Amino acid sequence: MPILSLHHVTATVDDAQDDLDFCLGVLGLRLVKKTVNFDNHHVYHFYYGDERGTPGTIWTTFPYKDHGVKVGTKGAGQVTVTSFSVPSASLAFWRARLREHGIAVTDVEPRFGEEVIQFSDRSGLVFELIATDRDPRSPWTAGVVRADAAIRGLHSVTITVREPVATLELMTALLGYAIVDETEGRIRVAVGGSAPGHIIDVAHDEQADAAVNGLGTVHHVAMAIASEDEQLRLREELIQFGCKVTEVRDRCYFKSIYFREPGNVLFEVATMAPGFTADEDVTRLGRDLKLPPWEEENRADIEAHLSAVKT
Ligand code: ZN
Repeated sequence: MPILSLHHVTATVDDAQDDLDFCLGVLGLRLVKKTVNFDNHHVYHFYYGDERGTPGTIWTTFPYKDHGVKVGTKGAGQVTVTSFSVPSASLAFWRARLREHGIAVTDVEPRFGEEVIQFSDRSGLVFELIATDRDPRSPWTAGVVRADAAIRGLHSVTITVREPVATLELMTALLGYAIVDETEGRIRVAVGGSAPGHIIDVAHDEQADAAVNGLGTVHHVAMAIASEDEQLRLREELIQFGCKVTEVRDRCYFKSIYFREPGNVLFEVATMAPGFTADEDVTRLGRDLKLPPWEEENRADIEAHLSAVKT
């Protein structure tokens, strides 16, 4: 089966410095790449993750403040919640930490046996921390959060659709997901095992508003695939299934295809290689503004238009 795990989740956020302060200063993630949106080079693209930005740990943002983008609507056809994995005894630490930073925290119902807290960033994106003893991944420990509480990576995402049948058919028949659990209004699927980082929850609600992309909403979720050959093979299968799939796009740190699943959520399938050390040493990840080779000739213009940020 072609899909290995989650690769990354990408959102549209408001202010660049607020985003850095939240992801680095509150969540304690590592900034693994500071670049620009390859489809709009006057907007930053920040990638956060573990030490190397291992697929399955990556959260990425486009800070669109002052670019005329309206606040989005959360709803059907979108990733509505992004959940990170933390150690099982760490939620008391996190509740206190988030409140110290002025962030309201809500305890939500334990989900499939794991405790969950929910909160938002300043753009209005909804996040969860899920406490689990099923996550062997090593966290980034040179950040601001101590090792026994630090985020291990993505736990799962919740996608919202009105009608789950066709979504589940695509995910199980083509992408290799299996249904692993179910509760009212939510079906959990997983691929490559069911550990954190391998999970997508399909929330279904016939009455849900249609999602509108904009500030404070997730743009897409990406899944990891082992090789470019597998990616091309899957692309053909998706086309046969009836999906409109993009050409392979070179994102420098991975290669990607994009398509909308039947519930209208934008899915990306991204290769594992070459990763974030393709253009800078692991010790220096995220320090300098990195541009794809085809944008280097525009560097002066790009730098002049981006807001100055402190990392
Ligand atoms: Zn992406």
